[in-house]
Amino acid sequence: MSRSRFLHAAAVMAALLLGAGGAQASDKIKVVASFSILGEMVSEVGGDRVEIVSLVGPDGDAHFYEPTPGDVRTLAGAAIFFVNGLGFEGWIGRLEKSSGFKGKVVTATKGIASLESEKEAGGKAKRITDPHAWQSLAHGKIYVQNIRDGLIAVDPDGKATYQANASRFMADIDKVEGEVKTAVATLPPGRRRVITTHDAFGYFGTTYGLEFIAPEGVSTESEPSVQDLAKIIRQIKAQKIPAVFLENISDRRLLDQIAKETGAKVGGALYSDALSKPTGPAGTYLDMFRHNIKTLIAALSS
Ligand code: ZN
Repeated sequence: MSRSRFLHAAAVMAALLLGAGGAQASDKIKVVASFSILGEMVSEVGGDRVEIVSLVGPDGDAHFYEPTPGDVRTLAGAAIFFVNGLGFEGWIGRLEKSSGFKGKVVTATKGIASLESEKEAGGKAKRITDPHAWQSLAHGKIYVQNIRDGLIAVDPDGKATYQANASRFMADIDKVEGEVKTAVATLPPGRRRVITTHDAFGYFGTTYGLEFIAPEGVSTESEPSVQDLAKIIRQIKAQKIPAVFLENISDRRLLDQIAKETGAKVGGALYSDALSKPTGPAGTYLDMFRHNIKTLIAALSS
């Protein structure tokens, strides 16, 4: 074989290999999730049949996010878009519009009874919905069911796979929920109050019997007022709250200040609205719970 013919053959082989690779990649269902926790849950259910992009990645704050031109292109090419809902991602409507997305939108919190509260704002009572429903493992199973049904709707051929993956994942969720309940039960009633930066653990607290108090509300939008901060500092002292916890998505300065003024210890970092990087301590939905409960128990029981 002459050199030029060899090169030609090599080029044809390369083109064939690339073509095969490309065909393989495009066989997968293109899925977009709004944030890392939801994206990981979708990957548990979707397995090998799906290719997932989480728009707000590890340690990112999905309350406030500016979609990039890349996100617009990614969503435009997707078959299905998973969002949390309950007002968590205020930016998704604009993103859907600018991408011309024509696929299926699945709201993972559909069917969940949300936590509602009222806040005084400018002399008027404002109704506030807590979006952090994933922080209850019982609600996590409703997320899984919505994810499963959404994937079956866009990929009926994968029905058996999605059903099997969802059942396995829900069984794992039950197991971790048992571990969380057992761990909380070891805490004396007087050691079940916790301070975090923003109010992300309302569902966790309500479901598992801890009280979470936060200087910021259910969104990271507003900085706490001096009055809010003074109130929390008084409360920590009066109730002898033992520890304050950092969050992976929040600046630590606020909690360092509270810890300094009250003598409460900084009990470590909790994962609230985002996973860690895959190699970190909270790279999956269930590892996030395992890490958080371990961190809480370590600080509150000693
Ligand atoms: Zn949050």
